[in-house]
Amino acid sequence: MENFDTINTCSITLDKAMSIAINAEKSRDFSPMINGITVGLSSGTSGNRGIFLASENERAQWVAAVLDRVIGFQLKKRKVAFFLRANSNLYNSVASKLLRFEFFDLLIPTEKHIDSLNQLQPNILVAQPSCLIELAKFIESAKLRIHPEKVISVAEVLYPEDKKYLENVFQQTIHQVYQCTEGLLASTCKEGNLHFHEDYLIIEKNYLDDDKSRFHPVITDLMRSTQPVVRYELNDIIHELKNCPCGSKMTAIAQIEGRSDDKLCFLNDEGIETSIYPDFFRRAIILADSEIQDYMLIQKSKSKLDLYIAGTEAIFEKAKNEIQTLLEYNRCFNVVIKKLEASPFERGTKLRRIKNESI
Ligand SMILES: [Zn+2]
Repeated sequence: MENFDTINTCSITLDKAMSIAINAEKSRDFSPMINGITVGLSSGTSGNRGIFLASENERAQWVAAVLDRVIGFQLKKRKVAFFLRANSNLYNSVASKLLRFEFFDLLIPTEKHIDSLNQLQPNILVAQPSCLIELAKFIESAKLRIHPEKVISVAEVLYPEDKKYLENVFQQTIHQVYQCTEGLLASTCKEGNLHFHEDYLIIEKNYLDDDKSRFHPVITDLMRSTQPVVRYELNDIIHELKNCPCGSKMTAIAQIEGRSDDKLCFLNDEGIETSIYPDFFRRAIILADSEIQDYMLIQKSKSKLDLYIAGTEAIFEKAKNEIQTLLEYNRCFNVVIKKLEASPFERGTKLRRIKNESI
């Protein structure tokens, strides 16, 4: 974004693009264009907000990729319920005689959408995991009675335990899309595993640890020219999945762990800075008790963590103890864990269950 003006090939300045995109979001009229170039605000799976530009051709290619890989082409009329923070004419361009898009505003409480969803009976449901979880709770309480054939999780990291819960309630594989300002990077195969779109992307791997289990993807997009993406390193932490049973040779993703700046950092007993990947905390928390579903762990400083666990006091204590054990294992002994009584998650933002706010 810092070099937006010199990187894009159609002489659009970041100031101009940003003011157009922000106005569109405020007025909720989502058809902003400059000289035929679509301007959109994006917020990727793990949270980096940016501006994207797309020419008509690139838009068509994006639509083709979404139809082919995400929605799946069928000669049958289908209704898509799409929960979004901000619409974009990029999404409207997928609409056709066969696909009817119904846009649900994420900023409105989910409860208010229940009647319209029951009426619409969508064939396809697209939303971010935190919203899918809310919808699943309404399904469990029998207020929401929809039977989508396909459920697609977008815009946030889908944590393994949330995926399991959603698959249980919706009784099907939860599909995922990994998209950010840098493009439509990956989508799920029939086995439900994300694969990078390596037919039009070059994905290089910048490994983060010695056993090569985690990497940052370095992306080159062979199709985009309005806003070229050339060897751009994302700070998302990716775990590779070897040999997906679907047989695709495109790199599969076992898990998107979050962003590298969500590693938590402490001082150990020798005063040496020690950073621990978010996934270690995630596992410590969910393995503390099988009841734990909703949680958040936020680092406030090198010696202070805020912890929210939905459930009883006893469950909270178990999770807290597991976190202490993990910290002690890493020889970090002076960390205070404060209990949060209510979830700090704010509607309309991205759910990041483990995050570092101390940087
Ligand atoms: Zn696969």
